[in-house]
Amino acid sequence: MFNEIKEKIQNAKRILITAHKNPDGDAIGSGLALMLALNALNSDKEKIIRFVIDDKIPKYLKFLNHSFLIEEKSNVDTKYKFDLIIALDSANIERIGRVAEFIDETNTVINIDHHISNTKYGNINFIGSEYSSTSEIIYELIQFLNIKIDLDIAEAIYTGIVNDTGNFAYSNVTEKTFFIAYELKKIGVDNSKINNILFKNKSLKQMKLFGKLFTEFVFVKEKKLIYYFLSYNDMKSDKLTKDDTEGLVDFLRDFEEADFSLFLREEENGSVKGSIRSKNGDSNHLASLFNGGGHKKAAGFTSSLSSTEVIDIIMKNIIN
Ligand code: 5GP
Ligand code: MN
Repeated sequence: MFNEIKEKIQNAKRILITAHKNPDGDAIGSGLALMLALNALNSDKEKIIRFVIDDKIPKYLKFLNHSFLIEEKSNVDTKYKFDLIIALDSANIERIGRVAEFIDETNTVINIDHHISNTKYGNINFIGSEYSSTSEIIYELIQFLNIKIDLDIAEAIYTGIVNDTGNFAYSNVTEKTFFIAYELKKIGVDNSKINNILFKNKSLKQMKLFGKLFTEFVFVKEKKLIYYFLSYNDMKSDKLTKDDTEGLVDFLRDFEEADFSLFLREEENGSVKGSIRSKNGDSNHLASLFNGGGHKKAAGFTSSLSSTEVIDIIMKNIIN
């Protein structure tokens, strides 16, 4: 399938790379790595290659070199025509948000992802659910295209892998993941710097939010479910942004008696963004009840139901 992707890339003049809303290290890392790699092939500037997302790039990912090149959809005219669209790390078309406005009957969509729940919305779909991250797939694609991986590309890919494997801790890590990390380290990736930026960077208000999370969580013993709901009002009064809440769900899972952890965050329009993690149970199934998805052990969704209704549905659907 990489052959087909290569051919489409070779024939395209205007390439749009995109990734999911609320982008994480894998979305940004895989997209940036692919953009930099394709640009390296494009020294005569024959092609236009742009990386556009529906959101702003999270502040903590701005350390990645060339991340300033990533554009926000609201700054790109929808009349602009691309002939190839490469969607990364996005399980369904809604995940790329308003960037989908660039898709029409004239262009080709390549969907590259590692989510088991992917709906195969592309003209070409490379869904590798056995890959730890989309960044791992992009590493292989760049190798296949025979493009040299420089330090900037290496750090972008490494960030994506670390993001999605919890620093090589989750069961999605394979021998290949470690092999790629070995190759990236040889290129000069500073793993300690990236670990500090991704995991050791909490602000004072985040530290306080952690305190609240660890004291105010609810544990439902019969369901082995631990959860926490953060209302929009609380976010506003504590001056919290959605970036401040990243990773909270992973800490809830640390409770030894819990199988499922659930973090719910109310958005300004009243909808609820949910993140689910599990040790044994199926997070993807629970997220799919709200048209979300992800992986067996990590999934997410957005719902217009209230937090109480969401919790109720989740409890009913956990069968111990
Ligand atoms: P997180 O809880 O960290 O936001 O996401 C966990 C996993 O679920 C990630 O792989 C992410 O891509 C996926 N995910 C998060 N939110 C959604 C969503 O609203 N829809 C779908 N399909 N997947 C999601
Ligand atoms: Mn991912």
